[in-house]
Amino acid sequence: MAIREDVLVVGGGLAGMSAALSAAETGATVRLLSHKKSTLRHASGLVDCLGYTGDDGPLADPYTGLSDLPNEHPYRVVGESAIREGFDRFDGVVGDSYRGGHTDANALVPTQAGTIKPTARYPASMAAGLASDARSTLLVGFEGLSDFDAPLAADRLAAAGVPFDVRGVTLRFPKEFRADAKLTRYARALDRDEEPDRDRAPRFDGVRRALAELVRPKLDGAERVGFPSLVGDDENDVVREDLANRLDVPVFELAASPPSLPGVRLESLFLAALDEAGVRRTTGNPVVDYESEDGALTTVYTDKNGQRVPYGADQFVLATGGLVGKGIGSSRDGVREPVFDCHIPHPEDRYDWSATDAFGDQPFARFGVVPDDDLRPLDAAGDVEFSNLRAAGSVLGGADFAAQKCGSGVSLATGHVAGERAGALI
Ligand SMILES: Cc1cc2nc3c(=O)[nH]c(=O)nc-3n(C[C@H](O)[C@H](O)[C@H](O)COP(=O)(O)OP(=O)(O)OC[C@H]3O[C@@H](n4cnc5c(N)ncnc54)[C@H](O)[C@@H]3O)c2cc1C
Repeated sequence: MAIREDVLVVGGGLAGMSAALSAAETGATVRLLSHKKSTLRHASGLVDCLGYTGDDGPLADPYTGLSDLPNEHPYRVVGESAIREGFDRFDGVVGDSYRGGHTDANALVPTQAGTIKPTARYPASMAAGLASDARSTLLVGFEGLSDFDAPLAADRLAAAGVPFDVRGVTLRFPKEFRADAKLTRYARALDRDEEPDRDRAPRFDGVRRALAELVRPKLDGAERVGFPSLVGDDENDVVREDLANRLDVPVFELAASPPSLPGVRLESLFLAALDEAGVRRTTGNPVVDYESEDGALTTVYTDKNGQRVPYGADQFVLATGGLVGKGIGSSRDGVREPVFDCHIPHPEDRYDWSATDAFGDQPFARFGVVPDDDLRPLDAAGDVEFSNLRAAGSVLGGADFAAQKCGSGVSLATGHVAGERAGALI
């Protein structure tokens, strides 16, 4: 006997979690089936709406760029009000942990690579670091943390023309970790205010105070201090405030490249919201097969250690991600959506999948399922694949998430629409 719910969401990334929340809000019973951790854990923690539509500079207001997008872009399918509703849902889930909801304007957030990223929502931990703010800035990196070179990042920001003086220094963290220590090890030491190593900070009891004492002589008039995204994990707010009080200037985190603590923190906020909304979650096993009747899905099967476990529902949402999340697969034989075998248009000749100019417009970036205006995937003939299946997030084609800086926004908007419509049909 299959476990039954009103709505079944396949995929536990931002799109799937948004769909599950919107479906649950309609009163439907919802289950989320997810194989592995989502790409949020690798993402920067920034939540983009739309940063670019072409070669011009970043958009000041993402909503003004919508009309420049091609008709097949997921934003054009769901429309502006759905995008706004998706972001409203996001704001409700994250509360004070994120900023940017007070305005339509993109914020300009400095990254650990020394670039500036236009984004719609950013963690509160990054708020004091915005590039539109003219306060002089000190960036602090640590020996042994090879992913972040503070002096180089500072030079790049200065070369990019930021409206503030910026310098970078590399310090010895007051506690020594193994050479391959992860960011979380630094963050945990700050969370717990662990004892520093005596040869690195002989006079202080906790790493926070010891770190502040190392940074203070380097301030030299800087009006804010930026660290990589490791300023605490669970206690991020407390650690940041503690360091800011000790240094007497605001402290912020730079947007990170993978692995990303801000991305992990964002995932935790959504998981808590799912639990509160009563969404049932089953993780760890992939959906590998399905059954349908009269053009509608009835059951999907997960593979649990070689055993097929059935899950039934009235409505289904496909949110398995794009090429990175394995929601779209590619091989010599072509590009396919592996769960329901939904059609993905792509050139027959593999040489036409990518452009020779690595920085040029890459066709493969826009590969994905093509939906009707109800987000139901269409087959090669333009007919609906299954009457009760909707798709959301980066499994949808038509957007270039990396170039347009719209990854999370598309997931929030299409997840919201797919989940709400699925729930409303119950
Ligand atoms: C490195 C990186 C950096 C990024 N940076 C940003 C950024 O700065 N700003 C921004 O806005 N966005 C960013 N993004 C995009 C964003 O984080 C998400 O990738 C995007 O929102 C897509 O989410 P998704 O839910 O569609 O897919 P995913 O996050 O890929 O989630 C797909 C889920 O489906 C599951 N799944 C796949 N197949 C199956 C199956 N057969 N059965 C069950 N479950 C399955 C996966 O395990 C996963 O949990 C970044 C992404 C990456 C990878």
